[in-house]
Amino acid sequence: MKTIGLIGGMSWESSAEYYRIINEEIKTALGGLHSAKCILSSVDFEEIVQCQASGNWEKAGQILAEAALGLEKAGAHFIMICTNTMHKVVPIIEQSITIPILHIADATAAEIKKKHIQKVALLGTKYTMEQDFYKNRLFEQGIEVIIPAEEEQLIEVNRVIFEELCLGDFQASSKQYYKELIAQLIEAGAQGIIFGCTEIGLLIKPEEFDFPVFDTTIVHAKKAAEMALL
Ligand code: GLU
Repeated sequence: MKTIGLIGGMSWESSAEYYRIINEEIKTALGGLHSAKCILSSVDFEEIVQCQASGNWEKAGQILAEAALGLEKAGAHFIMICTNTMHKVVPIIEQSITIPILHIADATAAEIKKKHIQKVALLGTKYTMEQDFYKNRLFEQGIEVIIPAEEEQLIEVNRVIFEELCLGDFQASSKQYYKELIAQLIEAGAQGIIFGCTEIGLLIKPEEFDFPVFDTTIVHAKKAAEMALL
């Protein structure tokens, strides 16, 4: 079995979920008392959020690159970054390591293609929804991506992530807001929804919908377990 190197802490609420899912998958695949070989490097999320807010992605990239290098030196065979947003700095991290990064958007694109879907809606932080680093990775794989149409919707989705979900605060009113927004996006032509933030699945479950939902935490963690067993 390969050793998985996780860069977590962004937020730790979702990193804990990654750890659980990866171990569940290994247990299911191998049985007995088997569990995943993995190493977690968990950063201080406040430092990362300050870099995001000030636009200092270079500094955030250096922090994560240092974490990735530590994981490589500790024996990880591949790296996963346990957040969608911070995939923005993948090019910086890649310069520091020789082992591969299991990209969250690639794992998600593969699942979307399995369902033969062309158009999906993306919910995530404002960085993930508005900037190109994530959407382009999906476009390049033949997937069309839409995001909420109104600025105030983008602001509210982002606010709930940073002010509630990343702090372990799960409000019924926020869940209702997300569900109504998802219904609008389906109405606008999306054939499925990407939970493109690793905490959204802590608020709402894919099973609550009768159309395809791609929870990136589940998709990414399952793919990592699969890769570890190759
Ligand atoms: N975990 C979230 C994501 O998947 C947001 C945290 C962050 O900004 O990294 O994008």
